[in-house]
Amino acid sequence: MVDSRRPRDPADPLDGVRPGGRRSWWLREALAAEPPSLAADVAAPPLAGEERADVAILGGGYTGLWTAIRLRELEPALRIVVIESDICGGGASGRNGGFVTGWWDELPGLVALAGDAEAVRTAEALDTTIAAMRAFLEANGIDAWWTETGFVSVSASPAQDDVWREATDECERLGHGDRWRPLTREEVAGYARSPVFRAGAFMPVAGTVQPAALARGLRRVALERGVVIHERTLVEGFEAGRVTTTSAEGAGTVLADQVVVALNAWAARWQPFGRRFVTWSSYVVLTEPIPDVLAEIGWTGGEGIADSRFTLHYGRPTPDGRIALGGGGGRAGFGGRIGRAFSSDVGSARRAAEGLRRWFPELANVRIEDAWGGPIDIDDSHRPWFGTLPGGGVHFGLGYSGNGVSAAALGGRVLASLALGRDDEWTSLPLVGEPATPRAFPPEPFRYVGARAFREAIGIRERAEEAGRTANPVIREISRLPRRFGYHLGPE
Ligand SMILES: Cc1cc2nc3c(=O)[nH]c(=O)nc-3n(C[C@H](O)[C@H](O)[C@H](O)COP(=O)(O)OP(=O)(O)OC[C@H]3O[C@@H](n4cnc5c(N)ncnc54)[C@H](O)[C@@H]3O)c2cc1C
Repeated sequence: MVDSRRPRDPADPLDGVRPGGRRSWWLREALAAEPPSLAADVAAPPLAGEERADVAILGGGYTGLWTAIRLRELEPALRIVVIESDICGGGASGRNGGFVTGWWDELPGLVALAGDAEAVRTAEALDTTIAAMRAFLEANGIDAWWTETGFVSVSASPAQDDVWREATDECERLGHGDRWRPLTREEVAGYARSPVFRAGAFMPVAGTVQPAALARGLRRVALERGVVIHERTLVEGFEAGRVTTTSAEGAGTVLADQVVVALNAWAARWQPFGRRFVTWSSYVVLTEPIPDVLAEIGWTGGEGIADSRFTLHYGRPTPDGRIALGGGGGRAGFGGRIGRAFSSDVGSARRAAEGLRRWFPELANVRIEDAWGGPIDIDDSHRPWFGTLPGGGVHFGLGYSGNGVSAAALGGRVLASLALGRDDEWTSLPLVGEPATPRAFPPEPFRYVGARAFREAIGIRERAEEAGRTANPVIREISRLPRRFGYHLGPE
């Protein structure tokens, strides 16, 4: 192809774009499409004073909104109040990569947790949820670019070869080999041609969405169904029966017998959750529209593709011919604080842009038009964890570990049932309750220091491996530290 684009400055992988100054491109798009009647101050004003509810939901991302909608479906008369410190979708739900994925790649961990039958039931429950998401979007007119053409995991360096093998073998053993199956190099090239893709695996029940359009669509439906939402209202404290808040309108209280904590990485601030996961930043870069380049690469089916680094790169096309590519090579947070490092870290965004051009050298002259970051909640199990705090009345769902788009919809079903005291197919999943509790991480400052050392080492190691080298033994040893201490994180 003769490229007519202006040459870029190769010294600036981000083409002058800097993350942090504005909301994600996804969320700007979704907000621009909304009528004035749905604006925050009209439809979801800040809380002031005291309110009563049957269920108070803390956090207006996917988890909180799916829980609210599910509760109304199950018990239409319930009074449900959602408290959101920003606007709904302002957190990870409006900033993510939009990958909708199943749990077949997590099957070995699920088998270790709960045995063969329950592991399969759990993975099938997420497949059922993905089908229900599609039906919900259709039924409620939510245009979130739902594209269900599957998920491709690839190896992009020899060190990543076959990392899917244990899971694909386990799927085969349990009679579900079609749900997560290995791909040859040639088969991978059928999805997208890259000089660094070596082989891969394919998950058919998976796809992509416009993540913020999904979050804002859920908000609209929740409002239409009578859920009360207070945006720009910060939760200061909670216990069974009572939630205290502040907003520009002053102090507020919600009196509710049942409280659902749907705060994702922000939950790290609260003692019952803080030790159970590490907050980590993830960044996404978005190209200008390049349908011609997508065609040249052969990436025309719309599949999401991720490599197999620990600090993985995950890319997906958009219907208008852009590529959004994320990189998990961000930073760990300290003490549960979600500060600027989670939204304004130029280095992390730059690494995502470099990853994109490594995958596809055809993008050498293609410009980055936007970049943004957000927090993810990484626990030891790579799976979310749902439960009820001792004493009852406070339920929680978190620990999605960067894979919450579909899992949070399942979480809404679990949390609604927990809040209603039901014992059903959702609350009996092995991800619920004490046995699913992820292993605690060390207290601060040891957690931060350890995560920081690990992050530096894994970055050096993975870059060396991609360049065809082996990192030095000290770096390799530091990158194995989580495994040495018995955590299911990072390379062996
Ligand atoms: C850059 C990035 C890329 C990702 N890519 C993918 C992907 O491709 N696929 C995938 O499956 N997952 C992905 N994830 C993860 C996914 O976005 C999350 O797992 C999912 O959005 C979690 O939903 P949630 O509702 O639990 O959390 P959130 O959407 O984060 O919602 C929590 C809400 O709580 C609010 N809040 C925080 N503190 C308070 C307080 N004190 N009072 C009131 N409200 C408060 C926040 O403002 C926020 O809106 C990604 C995440 C990031 C950051």
